Amino acid sequence: MVDLKGQYAKIKETVDASIEEVLDSSAYINGPYVQQFQADLEKYLDVKHVIPCANGTDALQIAMMGLGLEQGDEVITVDFTFAATVEVIALLKLTPVLIDVEADTFNMDIDALKKAITPKTKAIVPVHLFGQVANMDAVMSVAKEHNLFVIEDNAQAIGATYTFEDGRKQKAGTIGNVGTTSFFPSKNLGCYGDGGAIFTNNDELAHILRGIVNHGMYKRYYHDVVGVNSRLDSIQAAVLKAKLPLLDEYCDARRDAARFYNNAFASNSNIITPSTKSNATPNCGEICDTCDCHVFHQFTLQITNGKRDALHQHLLDQGIPNAIYYPVPLHAQKAYQDDRYKEDDFTVTNELIETVISLPMHTELDKEQLGFITKTINEFVG
Ligand SMILES: *Cc1c(COP(=O)(O)O)cnc(C)c1O
Repeated sequence: MVDLKGQYAKIKETVDASIEEVLDSSAYINGPYVQQFQADLEKYLDVKHVIPCANGTDALQIAMMGLGLEQGDEVITVDFTFAATVEVIALLKLTPVLIDVEADTFNMDIDALKKAITPKTKAIVPVHLFGQVANMDAVMSVAKEHNLFVIEDNAQAIGATYTFEDGRKQKAGTIGNVGTTSFFPSKNLGCYGDGGAIFTNNDELAHILRGIVNHGMYKRYYHDVVGVNSRLDSIQAAVLKAKLPLLDEYCDARRDAARFYNNAFASNSNIITPSTKSNATPNCGEICDTCDCHVFHQFTLQITNGKRDALHQHLLDQGIPNAIYYPVPLHAQKAYQDDRYKEDDFTVTNELIETVISLPMHTELDKEQLGFITKTINEFVG
């Protein structure tokens, strides 16, 4: 699905030199690379504060702790996402409220969001799924109307830019009160282990978050709040500092591959290719670099003739990696079942889990590979 080895080969010299520097310095925790990467990322995202942490799941948990959410508060998020999003809500004894997604963008359905709001609702967690930014004009306006926090789960869309209705542009993850991301190796900006970060423009919240990641300490050995231990280590920061300047190039390479896929499947009536319409602003509907609201963490098709499972097996037989993200909706997972949920509320997600299939998507795909993948698929589901 990804070619981390091929990508590493091209940047080996820079990355190895940075890692060696960390090894020589022996500043393995909180070394200079952590501060440097933090500053570089703040600049890239045009956000006031980046708080590095150990992984993307911690980032979500710490963001929710920092906002002061309390037991019983309802937090609305989507049924169709990786489990980490709902896991941290449940861990903190908040009440997860799962809602359906849109069939074309796989992102939060705004009507479902409006319907899910109760007097107990405190926060909304849009997930920019598969690299595409959710409809943030609508999310922010609903949040404002009901006085709710917005926590963007940006683990899959770092580098994407959202264009508001009024033409303003902002990087994904910096629009809500707080945003989170993951640097898991296969993410668009991946390190060589675990890593994550939290973003905010709010000085006070940033201060609180910096304490929480460090055992609730604001002064050494004085613990003002209950915190956690969640650090980005210096070696991972060195890798990320070396890779960050390449992120836009990486996103472009993914968009190029997505364009190839889209063209190849355009006339196949059994295949729906991913929509790029997430921006509220009417965009051109193509994958272009001006409406760069989609950075294709995944390239996910919907197979509409019932052959999804057969295609999955056929591709594996042909040596073509592919995956079903996600095979089970969160509301149907044992850990998150709840009597409040009705199947009728999840018609889109229930259908997507039967039709979606994600194809190889990374920075090293060449025309020959893409040609083989698309030909094999078109022949099978033609
Ligand atoms: C990867 C991912 C996470 C968790 O990130 P980790 O670094 O693996 O903890 C959270 N949310 C989404 C949507 C993800 O894709």
